[in-house]
Amino acid sequence: MKYISTRGHVEPKGFIDTVLMGLADDGGLMVPEQIPAVSAATLEEWRSLSYQELFLKIFSLYTNDEIPYEDLKELVATSYSTFRSPEVTPLHQVNDSLYVLELFHGPTFAFKDVALQFMGELYSYISRKRGEIIHILGATSGDTGAAAIQGVRGKEGIKICILHPHGKVSKVQELQMTTVDDSNVLNLSVHGNFDDCQKVIKDLFADLDFKGRYHLRAINSINFVRILAQTVYYFYAYLQVEGSAEKKINISVPSGNFGNIFSGYLAKQMGLPINKLIIATNENNILERFVNTGEYKPGNFKSTYSPSMDIQVASNFERYLYYLLGEDAEKLSGYMSKLQSEGKITVDGELLAQVQSDFDALGAKNQQCLDTIGKYKQEYDYLLDPHTACGIAAYEAFSGNGETTITFATAHPAKFDEAIQLIAIKQEFPAPIAALFEMPQHQTVVEHDKEVIIRELQAFYE
Ligand SMILES: *Cc1c(COP(=O)(O)O)cnc(C)c1O
Repeated sequence: MKYISTRGHVEPKGFIDTVLMGLADDGGLMVPEQIPAVSAATLEEWRSLSYQELFLKIFSLYTNDEIPYEDLKELVATSYSTFRSPEVTPLHQVNDSLYVLELFHGPTFAFKDVALQFMGELYSYISRKRGEIIHILGATSGDTGAAAIQGVRGKEGIKICILHPHGKVSKVQELQMTTVDDSNVLNLSVHGNFDDCQKVIKDLFADLDFKGRYHLRAINSINFVRILAQTVYYFYAYLQVEGSAEKKINISVPSGNFGNIFSGYLAKQMGLPINKLIIATNENNILERFVNTGEYKPGNFKSTYSPSMDIQVASNFERYLYYLLGEDAEKLSGYMSKLQSEGKITVDGELLAQVQSDFDALGAKNQQCLDTIGKYKQEYDYLLDPHTACGIAAYEAFSGNGETTITFATAHPAKFDEAIQLIAIKQEFPAPIAALFEMPQHQTVVEHDKEVIIRELQAFYE
């Protein structure tokens, strides 16, 4: 299978070249030329597989044998050996209609580890096999950076620079990134918000000369391998629910950059019979507004209790729009340039009806988020992190009678104790998190200025 750009101006690429390219050279996002289909019979055969075995089955549909099976198997085994649960992403039943898929058992206690532990191993493998220099550059609202740094710290042939918005990530997120003192890691703490950081990164990746000269590689969910790694737990979750073939299974996903939920869309296109895909956001509710009205228009940035979802420009939205427009790269390019020039995209009629059949969406309010955490602690003695709480609020809004919903727990509550404290719940920190508070920090604070950031990068990469 080959991979093409949503904007239509990149020669079809293989799997590894797609991973290395990250953002497509024409400014689009890479997608498979054809989405492979998984039949109901195959799905049933997969029911007994371990997480790692399921990963291998799914990836084998996409990698074109560019990575020999035994190598891939070893990469997967190493990637998930760092998880604290043997099931990697265990499923927790809360009540008759609700399960929570815990995606936070990796090294940095958020779902980003699931894809980035693998991506770190994969980059390292590519570096060894191809003699490639890998210079990772990324922006983070907190969790991606921490997970990416853990994925590659100390690995030979790889350097990583992560931009995060100064003072706008949680304390634990900041510590997870900045207490790493390996010499292949650079943390730039930028005065500005996440969208500012992401904008600089997008500009640098769009500068093909700069990207090539410095061997820049992406870890953001613009990279297709992250999307693919995340489809694995949609299959896994579905297959773990007893009798799922006879049930209506919804999946509710705390969303920001639209990466995680796009993986769900991909899984559904492959044939996973998900009933409703529910987009949960916070008061930065661009996706909720889009699903309800057809207008996709970045609004004013708001700081909320779920900072990893404080995002106005959802990078992966372009992938979905591409499929919504019938895989028409020209049409998609038209919409994207309209977004540039007019600051919004609008769909109506049949297209809007399609959007509304693909997704339900809720932007949980700040108070609703806290109330949900309090309610589930009291009723089920289960502590939600504020992102997961938005997912649960969306489950409550959209799960119909007799339906079963799997809500993704995208982070461990200890990562966001600032919010948990507001409702006077005292939690014990897991030992690896408690230990961070004693460690020295390493970061460079910079202005939100592209030239300043470029100088820091040149000094680090050269
Ligand atoms: C990154 C993140 C999200 C949002 O995921 P996207 O793939 O960007 O939509 C939600 N919750 C947590 C805890 C995160 O770290």
